[in-house]
Amino acid sequence: MAEPVDQWWARRQFSRGTDVPYPVGTYREAWASFPALIRQYHPELNSGFTLSQIPPAAEVLLQWQCEAGHVFVATPAEQRDRPGQRRRRSAWCPECTRLALSRPNPRVSVIRDAQNQSQASARRPARPPRSARPLCDKTPALPTGSPFVSVCAPKPASAVEAELRAGLETRLAQTTGLNAIRVARPFFDHLEVWPDIVLPELQVALEYDSTGRHGLEHVGKRQRADERKDRALRSAGWEVVRIRTGRLPALGPHDIVASGVTKKTYERIIDELRAIRGPLFVDAYLR
Ligand SMILES: [Zn+2]
Repeated sequence: MAEPVDQWWARRQFSRGTDVPYPVGTYREAWASFPALIRQYHPELNSGFTLSQIPPAAEVLLQWQCEAGHVFVATPAEQRDRPGQRRRRSAWCPECTRLALSRPNPRVSVIRDAQNQSQASARRPARPPRSARPLCDKTPALPTGSPFVSVCAPKPASAVEAELRAGLETRLAQTTGLNAIRVARPFFDHLEVWPDIVLPELQVALEYDSTGRHGLEHVGKRQRADERKDRALRSAGWEVVRIRTGRLPALGPHDIVASGVTKKTYERIIDELRAIRGPLFVDAYLR
């Protein structure tokens, strides 16, 4: 049961046998990839405790204030799980979400956000539960782990991703143009996954992760989807290297935490590829 912050703190003081069970700064890194929540949290609304003193999994009721001024109560887990289907800044506040949904005339910002979403989720008002969604039948009948050109894969999204792909092509000789990998079990409604960059000869998938315009990408539920995607790839014989920006923490053993893509990033990627497949094998593909 989640409890008010003073009660929760008193209980932690007792169970840990100390006046300050969580000193300021303890959980700073854990919150760093949630700038929207850092902005919503104010110590004066929460008995003076700072967000860096709150474990992300704590069953504690905190008060938050959105940028429009709405004050609401939510646990850390509820807040971190807000990023879901809607790519709008309003997703970070229950009151703003309610207002955005009940607004009779869509505003320009809403239209623009809808265009940013995948066609499928933008057109469908409510998704049926996952179990009821039919599996797409366009995935070719290839052995698990085969890379291929998918007609379902989304178009490359970001300029940085394109830059990364081009930068790698000048350094590594790999078959280009493949955008999907056949997997054994459904990932959402496909028997395929779509990495940002596919290195077919090395059997390594590369992902470029940033938290996006509204801080909604690759956090909360979306992080769990990333983890499922990585597991699907690994069980198909592939390894994954994620380039993590926006203070996103590494998810896998070969992930690279960076602030952006520089010359140094390519060196780090190639070093990770060597760690995964061995230097002799990887160096044979260097241009
Ligand atoms: Zn609000």
